[in-house]
Formats: sequence, C-alpha cells, structure tokens
Amino acid sequence: MKDILPPESAVWQVVENKLRDVFNLFGYKEIRTPFLENLNLFERGIGEATDIVEKEMYIFNDSKGRQSALRPEMTASVARAFIENNLNQIQSVHRLFYVGPMFRHERPQAGRLRQFHQFGGECIGLNDPISDVDVIYLIYQLLAELGITDFTIRMNSLGSQDSKQKYSKTLREYLSSYKTKLCDLCQDRLDRNVFRVLDCKNDECQALTQSAPLILDVQSKDDQNYFNQIVHILEQMQIPFRIDPRMVRGLDYYTNTVFEISHPSLGAKDALGAGGRYNNLIQSLGGADTPAIGFAVGLERLLMILSQEKILKNSAGQDKLYLVSMGEESMKQNYFLLNELRKQKFLVEMDMSCKNIKYQMKQANKLKANWCLIRGEDELTSQQIVIKNMDSGDECKILFDQLFEFLNQSVKSEI
Ligand code: AMP
Repeated sequence: MKDILPPESAVWQVVENKLRDVFNLFGYKEIRTPFLENLNLFERGIGEATDIVEKEMYIFNDSKGRQSALRPEMTASVARAFIENNLNQIQSVHRLFYVGPMFRHERPQAGRLRQFHQFGGECIGLNDPISDVDVIYLIYQLLAELGITDFTIRMNSLGSQDSKQKYSKTLREYLSSYKTKLCDLCQDRLDRNVFRVLDCKNDECQALTQSAPLILDVQSKDDQNYFNQIVHILEQMQIPFRIDPRMVRGLDYYTNTVFEISHPSLGAKDALGAGGRYNNLIQSLGGADTPAIGFAVGLERLLMILSQEKILKNSAGQDKLYLVSMGEESMKQNYFLLNELRKQKFLVEMDMSCKNIKYQMKQANKLKANWCLIRGEDELTSQQIVIKNMDSGDECKILFDQLFEFLNQSVKSEI
C-alpha cells in the first residue's frame, strides 16, 4: 500500500479530472459506494472459485460476527447499489462511473499493490451490440485524452450462460484426458472453474490448451451473431482490436463480450484494464433481469506508462504568484493581501516565517512562481509594490492601487 504524496498527487488530480470530463461527455454519472461490503456479495458476485475470492480478499468479522470484506473490485458493489436503491425504477438505462481504491491481498510485486486504484464504467440496462461498441469506444477516448494510443484491446465472446455451460462441459471433457499433465492448480481448476485453465501461465498447461476447442465455435448462433455485429461496427469505426479466441477472464459473472487492454510497457503478464458483459449478475444478486457491460482500468498501471512530467507541464495553465515581505509589518499587510488575492482566485503563496529576502526569492524559484510581488516597509510607506516577472527577470514598481488592474491584465488565471 502506498502513500501518494505531492507532487505525484497533482498528477493524480489532473488524470482524474481528465477522466471525469470524458465520462461526462459519454453520459456517465459518478457512483461512490462504501469500501466495505458484506463478504457474501463478492462470493456470490465474483464467484467462489476465483483467485480474488479464494485468496485475495481482506475479510473482517464485526462485533456481531458478520463478515465484511474490503472491495476487491467495483462491479459487484455497483450491482448491489443498483438493486438496493431501485435504480431500475428511475430509468431503464444507467451509465455509471467510479474512481477509487480497491483492495486485494496479493503477493506484492511491481505493478501489483494491495491497495490500488481503478476507474471504470458500467452501462446498465442495454443489451445491444452498439452499447458494447460504445463502451470500447469510451475506453479509447479515455486513454486518448491522456495521450495513450499504443495500447491493444483483445476481445472474445463467452456467449450466454447456456453457451458458457456447454463450453465448460466440452472443455472439461477435452482436458480430462490430459489431466495428469496439467499443473496441480489446473487439475483442481478442472472441476471447480475449468475456464481458468486457459489463463494458466504454466508452459505445459498453455501447450495443452492450444488445441482445445474454442468457445466461439461452441456458442449459439445468436451469441455468434451478437459478437459479429460488434466486430463489424468496430471495423467500420476503424477502431483497432484483436480477437483472442482463448481469452476467458477469471470472474464468474461475465457473459458474451469480454476484453482486455494491454500496453507494451507493462509486459505480457499485466493488463492495463479489462471488462465485459455481465447480463446475469444483477438478477443473480436478487435484482430484476438487467443486462449490463462494464470495464475497469488500473490507475497505478496507467501512471506507470504516462509521462508524469508532461502531464503536469501541460496542465499548468495558471500563473503562480509569490508574495515577498521585508519586516513584520509588511508580512502582516502582505498576509491580508494574500487573502484578497486568494478571494480573487489567484494562485498565490508567501513565506509566513519572516525569513530574509534571499530565502523568499529562493522559495519562489523552488515553487516555480511566474511572478513575485515584493512589498517591504519602504513600499508600504510609498504605497507601491514591486512586480518581478520570474520568467524574463523584468521588474517594475507600480502604485499599490493599480495592482489588481495589472494582475488582471498580465497574469494568466484559468480558474
Ligand atoms: P481486474 O479487476 O483483475 O480485471 O483488474 C483490472 C485492472 O486493475 C488491471 O488490469 C490492473 O490495471 C488493475 N489491477 C488489478 N489488480 C491490481 C493490483 N493488485 N495492483 C495494481 N493494479 C491492479
């Protein structure tokens, strides 16, 4: 678990703001749910035979013996909130987004944290190929807004629940004849969650699954047709993607479309994000029969591939001012001025410890101030103020009364 400190926290803010803008543009509204949920929600929602539920959750017993868990992902929580708040009675389609921390007790390693952050979107109430396309397009726009273009989206279709069941039988039959050659974990997965064998990183398991039957071939004509329409529209929109007929995704709730987003700098093992359709989740948690599709992207991984410096530079739209004082009375008067400047939304700082002018100018440089406003005892007496442009080094003295007129004309303020 990591502390996020300045100046990195400023990068987070910029990234989150950009993401919010794009979500808004696509009609997504923010949802915030509690970090703690009933354990049962994740067991039922994500599936008991998944890595997350089997070994990665932080679980607590409260004083009444109820088991709670820190959320390891958001889709189950969003589905729970959707049902509990009867959102389906307000309107038939909901587009919801979130940004926030998730918790998984994983083995710590590069790009894998125990508290990490995801942003994601859930489009609830639609079951049309265009809504799948729109989610994929949204991901493109979110990443493009941050200047990330060299990522890959791999897609597959798991088909409906019926098709999934049919495929798990076919796959189990196929793999059973090689059971002893599978790794110990996959031998166990064979009975409990056979799809996971296709995800296994073990070389021998991978070799064995190479000629396994494909899920796309086993699913119904309707399911195939649905997926083909998505593929066709994405092609028409010239959105690049790859079909990966072996991709299954670990969580139980997915049906039909599934996808993963990867980036060359993260390596083959770690995805940038993932998502898919989950047409049965809401009903299986006690809600009405409601189709949905969603995705999540890891923010730490996103930040690993972004040029943080570039983000900060591009977003530094507003000029910074630094107030320089000489003597106690000037510091007090400048403090009143500081608050006046703050009121008028100027980005301004000053030294509050009565240090010498050399120290204050050094601070101004350190803070990358664009302007210094210098007002010592002499300027107080003559009712003037010195303005120094820190970029050009030019300096001028003006009447204090004219300060705000000057600032409004010369200082870049974007708030
Ligand atoms: P998942 O819910 O497992 O499909 O994860 C979606 C995305 O969340 C991944 O592609 C990662 O970017 C991110 N993610 C998942 N687990 C972690 C973790 N332990 N540490 C950092 N990022 C993670």
